[in-house]
Amino acid sequence: MGSPTIHTDLLFDPVQKKFIKNVSIKVDEPSGLITNVIHRDGDVEGELGDSDIDLRGKVVLPGFVDAHSHIFLHSYDEASAVVQKRDESFVERVIRSVNHCRIGLLAGYTTYRDLGSESMQDADCNVRDAINRGLIPGPRLYVATKVIASTGGFESRTENSIGGHCMPAGAEAADGPDELRKAVRRRIAAGADIIKFFGDYRRRIMRFPPKQQHPYIGSVKFPPAVPNETHVMFTQEEMNTIVEEAELADCPVAAHCITKAAAKAAAIAGALTIEHAFNMDDETLLLFKERGTILVPTLAVFEHIHKSKVQEVLVLVKRAWDLGVRLACGGDTGTYPHGDNAREMELMIEAGIPVEDVLAAGTVGGWDACGGDRCGRRFGWFEEGTAADIIALDADPREDKDALRKVSFVMKDAQVWKREGQAVGMV
Ligand SMILES: [Zn+2]
Repeated sequence: MGSPTIHTDLLFDPVQKKFIKNVSIKVDEPSGLITNVIHRDGDVEGELGDSDIDLRGKVVLPGFVDAHSHIFLHSYDEASAVVQKRDESFVERVIRSVNHCRIGLLAGYTTYRDLGSESMQDADCNVRDAINRGLIPGPRLYVATKVIASTGGFESRTENSIGGHCMPAGAEAADGPDELRKAVRRRIAAGADIIKFFGDYRRRIMRFPPKQQHPYIGSVKFPPAVPNETHVMFTQEEMNTIVEEAELADCPVAAHCITKAAAKAAAIAGALTIEHAFNMDDETLLLFKERGTILVPTLAVFEHIHKSKVQEVLVLVKRAWDLGVRLACGGDTGTYPHGDNAREMELMIEAGIPVEDVLAAGTVGGWDACGGDRCGRRFGWFEEGTAADIIALDADPREDKDALRKVSFVMKDAQVWKREGQAVGMV
């Protein structure tokens, strides 16, 4: 244990949204915190100490925050969510999550806001705690456990389920204020850091089953124009109750919303973040701005599923930024490979949002999305008392569009996990 000093000559400060020169950062291993941020006049004077870390020549940032991930999912290119839930054992899925957490950390992601355990019940709490106890390497996890949905609203079914589904339940189903209060209370008691509810969803998920169950591709003979449209799942009163009850436990709320109607209702209810929001208009975005609602646009999953339409959503996200809507970066990681998390920030940059604003959304914006000071730790910027989550890139993201993939150094809570591009301390 000690207190190394990290020397940088080019560092991104998310608070000022500026790249600044000649900063040294003192960190404290026992507490995992930054203890001093020193602005030097020029280069480091004298020899470096034995424990010092030299990141001069690299671009240094706070660790990235993935604001929408799923540790229990692996890429839909390998297996659909239904196949993963139906065919992979609980143990296999836990083991996969251990791998995902290691890969995410090595990609520079020191925090994940993990929005739903995808039929793994409350096991995300256990993985979170295992990481916090030092048993496995991984990002700091803020987890939602089971998502909250109205009855039948987020359950995959097979045609062989007489009178019910025969898949592991994906959601905590609840209807009406009384049940929803209980559902939120159960989630809090189970260990959720964040309450996630579905504002809308494809509620008739197996009404027109294709050969291989897929939510977007119909395969019956005369399918309707939209085989499985997204519909609002809760009334305004129900959404209000979810947020009101979560607030009693000082717990932030994330809402999955594809439709404008659900997004508006969730923002009015006081959800901190709206996930996806692929169909917004100015009226909805201005409501987000007025309410301080954070948009997590999950561009990366959209690109993965609807590549031909992604430009439309990039225009929408740029519009959100132009209007001053708060943004955080999380691509629904897990639906595409962990380790490719940075795709979300790359797409935001492609949308025309300045690199500095995207990097701020991918760091301190993620902390905001975790509930800010309510989440119990400060991270995502450099200041005395914030977590010593520090990463370094081998290229400048203002000049190299692949720079966010060139992570050569990762420190989380003052512990080094990657140095010169190689994993360390993972025996
Ligand atoms: Zn998701």
